[in-house]
Amino acid sequence: MLRSATLYLFILILTACGTASDSETDADQAARRPNIIFIMSDDHAQRAISAYSDELIQTPNLDRIANEGMLFHNSFVTNSICAPSRAAILTGKYSHINGKIDNLSPFDPNQWTFTEALHDAGYRTSLFGKHHLQEIPHGLDEYRALIGQGDYYNPTFIHNGDTLAPTKGYTTTLITDYALEELQRNADSDQPFMMLYWHKAPHRNWMPDTSDLDGLLDNEYPEPATLRDDYAGRPAAANADMRIADMFVSQDLKVIEEYEPNDPGTGGATFWEGGSAQMARYFYNEIDRLHPDQRAAWQPFLDRVGREWQQVKGTEEELSWRYQRYMQDYLASVKSVDDNVGRVLDYLDESGLADNTIVIYTSDQGFYLGEHGWYDKRFMYEESHRTPLMIRYPARIDAGTTVDELVLNIDIAPTLLELADTLIPEELQGYSLVPLFDGEAPDDWRDFIYYRYYQQMNSFHRVARHEGVRGDRYKLIHFTEPGFEGYELYDLDEDPNEMENRIDDPDLTAEKERLQSELREKRRELEVTD
Ligand code: CA
Repeated sequence: MLRSATLYLFILILTACGTASDSETDADQAARRPNIIFIMSDDHAQRAISAYSDELIQTPNLDRIANEGMLFHNSFVTNSICAPSRAAILTGKYSHINGKIDNLSPFDPNQWTFTEALHDAGYRTSLFGKHHLQEIPHGLDEYRALIGQGDYYNPTFIHNGDTLAPTKGYTTTLITDYALEELQRNADSDQPFMMLYWHKAPHRNWMPDTSDLDGLLDNEYPEPATLRDDYAGRPAAANADMRIADMFVSQDLKVIEEYEPNDPGTGGATFWEGGSAQMARYFYNEIDRLHPDQRAAWQPFLDRVGREWQQVKGTEEELSWRYQRYMQDYLASVKSVDDNVGRVLDYLDESGLADNTIVIYTSDQGFYLGEHGWYDKRFMYEESHRTPLMIRYPARIDAGTTVDELVLNIDIAPTLLELADTLIPEELQGYSLVPLFDGEAPDDWRDFIYYRYYQQMNSFHRVARHEGVRGDRYKLIHFTEPGFEGYELYDLDEDPNEMENRIDDPDLTAEKERLQSELREKRRELEVTD
């Protein structure tokens, strides 16, 4: 635990003497701690990054991070929902330990976070974009944060405690503008920096930039094999309110009131009295908030969407049309993230910062892009259990390295601490990923990962509470919500789409018992008491 103390002291002395200048030796350079740019997007599925899959979109800039660094093929979250995942990332601990179990429960900002630890270790720390916790994380020198979910256009930022007037522009671009300003401020500093560059996109309701609207409605994407899932043998999946077939026609599909005055969608808000009517109003307000030039750019798009809706409404084509509409907007939101990440990577090259700057890209969790007929996340099924993870750090990682080991979002905090030569508190539940950087796993790397989703049935999307374990091949899910109690078992090699629950299959009795034992062991190891 004290492995970095000597080095840190050495750096403090160096900094105090002001030696990091023209006379800097190779040894000094080696000792200088790396900068960190932690890029996170919101609800970004692995399948919407071409480093993982080129089926849906090309993301050349995100791919640079993987191609010039390391791609984690098996990267997962501990609780697949926005704010709890962010709390897990910041603390390096599962939800039951850090306390942020669902979007409504409070996050105690006074607990240990890696941002504050790096700040205390001498890093200049900053945040640009969405954090989605009630309080800004502690230990930041500079921040420009969205409030809650934020808006896609003309967002309101809180700048170091001051709430600013709405800023005209597209949020993904604005967040990047501010991140670049921070990089320019730090470019010539001897102090290492750690910047959280955290996008709102591609979170629902997926509003593309005006510059990406032209031609967007002509794009067509392949339908996933499970778009018309019947949910046989999976009662919790059958009960969930997150089907593309039930999306809001207004806020999700962008049909304005003139073309559809009575939104038929449930949008995951059936638990909420007046849900769909209120959510429709939310979208109309977002359109009303556009500046006249932005609105003018949207109008032809909105008119064509409205006319198309009136043609397909109630026909056999409706679900396919809804899926295409969803993909068009979601992937355009991703494209803007990719374009803007490219601006940051270009700046790192131009400024000479690239060699000594760790760039990490992840999302707060994955997302359903039509698999099982769904949008949204929450379930322990693959598409939302997974999250993208890529790390570029030329000093330590060879270009084009890939890793297949099971890694978690709680591993990011200890990884960054180790790379910053900062002490890793023993109570962290994640493991540093540094031992994987040469592409081979230590013998004692984890064989199973534990997952738990807490939000109750009487909430958005009606997903039953569950927990489970996943190994390389098999996954066990235990639903604990009253009315949905039971287990599901999947063989991911034979059934990667998780369509066949084999919990009662006698051929898998040994695997079932092994996974049930692993679940008990993980609960004990991780101090899960309820
Ligand atoms: Ca999210």
